[in-house]
Amino acid sequence: KVAVVAIDGPSGVGKGTLSQFLTCKSGFHLLDSGAIYRALAFGAIHNQIDLENHAALVELALRLPVSFMEGSVIYEGKDVTSKIRTEETAAVASKVAAIPEVRTALLDRQKAFSQAPGLIADGRDMGTIVFPDASLKLFLTASAEVRALRRVKQLKKQGIDANIEKITQDIRERDERDANRKTAPLVAAEDAITIDTSNMNIEQVCQSALTLMRE
Ligand code: C5P
Repeated sequence: KVAVVAIDGPSGVGKGTLSQFLTCKSGFHLLDSGAIYRALAFGAIHNQIDLENHAALVELALRLPVSFMEGSVIYEGKDVTSKIRTEETAAVASKVAAIPEVRTALLDRQKAFSQAPGLIADGRDMGTIVFPDASLKLFLTASAEVRALRRVKQLKKQGIDANIEKITQDIRERDERDANRKTAPLVAAEDAITIDTSNMNIEQVCQSALTLMRE
C-alpha cells in the first residue's frame, strides 16, 4: 500500500506551501487537486461550455487534457500555470466543483497519483473521499481574520491594495458555503489531525507536519 498524506482545509490556510515542503522533504509525488478543478474550469471557459451543461463538463472532466510537469500545469500542450490562477478561473472552478457528477468523473484521475514512493495530496476532500485510507490526514484551519490578513499581505506584495473587512467577509461567506454545500462539504475526516495555524508561521506549520509524518 502506498503512503498517502492527505492535506485538507479551506483556501488561504497554507496547504499549498505545506504540501510543497512535504513533497521536497519526502520525495513523494504531489497532487494539487485544486489545479485539476482549475484546469477543468479553464477548459470549460476555453471551450465555451455552459456551466449548466453537466454532461459536457463530465465529458471534458473524463478526458481532461491536463498534465503536471515540474510545478507547471500543461493544458493541451500549453503552459497554463498562471492562467489557471486567475480569480475568474477560481470562481468557475468552485462552480464546477459543486457538481456531483463532475467530482465523480475526476476521482480516478486523482487516485492515479497515488504511486510509490508515496503521495502528498492537497485539497478539500483528500482525507474524506479521494483517499479515505490515507496513512496521515491533516486538516489545516485558521480564523477568517488571520486568513484575510495573510491574503491582504499577499496582495500588497503584488501591489494591490485590499480592504481587510471586505476580504474577511468574503472568506466568512465562502467558509459557510463550503461547509454547507451538499457535494463534498469541507469537513475534517474523523481520523484527521487538525492544525490550527492562526498563531503559527508557515515554518512552524511545516515543521509540525513533518514531525507527524515521520512519527
Ligand atoms: O485549492 P484551489 O483554490 O486551487 O481550488 C480551486 C477550487 O476547486 C476551490 O475553490 C474548490 O471549490 C475546488 N476544489 C474542490 N475540491 C478539491 C480541490 C479544490 O472542490 N479537492
